[in-house]
Amino acid sequence: MAHVIEAASSGRAKCRSCDQPIAKGELRFGERQPNAFGEGEMTLWFHLPCGAYSRPEPFLEAQGAAPADAAGADAAGSATQAAVPEPQLEQLVAAARFGIEHRRVPRLHGAERATSGRAHCRSCRELIAKGEWRLPLVFFEDYRFNPGGYLHARCARNYFETTEILDRVRHFSPELRETELAEVAGAIEAGQATQ
Ligand SMILES: [Zn+2]
Ligand SMILES: [Zn+2]
Repeated sequence: MAHVIEAASSGRAKCRSCDQPIAKGELRFGERQPNAFGEGEMTLWFHLPCGAYSRPEPFLEAQGAAPADAAGADAAGSATQAAVPEPQLEQLVAAARFGIEHRRVPRLHGAERATSGRAHCRSCRELIAKGEWRLPLVFFEDYRFNPGGYLHARCARNYFETTEILDRVRHFSPELRETELAEVAGAIEAGQATQ
């Protein structure tokens, strides 16, 4: 079966990427995968932005299957594909394309202050000091997002080959205040490219 975008029929499914519930009636992205536990297929559910950020290829495939014309969605008689309203769709598609052009960017999972001084940066390999801003990474393996270590915020430029990641930081760390986001942005921008 093809990947799907549809209104959630219940509020019980959790998003694979951010681990938060998907509200009943909210549009969600379903990635079809071979069933890991038996025959057939299973569906991994995501909030739309989480899908676009974390699983850009299948998300764009689902877009390809969706009706091109939002107003004609019902008339087209599509049983499953729900049309995402513009301009949200444009933003989501742009985010997914950006994640394909910058292949490490979908690993980014927010920002936080280091709770200890023991983790090494995956980019420069040096320790990340306690209290310093760090960017958690996740890797999609075996149908799950597994913790993949941290980066100094200042190493984002080298690791991701872009600094245009603040929308993702904001999305995956909604608890950060504007002043904190500004600090993260400053640390990211302060990073020097070493190549
Ligand atoms: Zn989510
Ligand atoms: Zn570093």
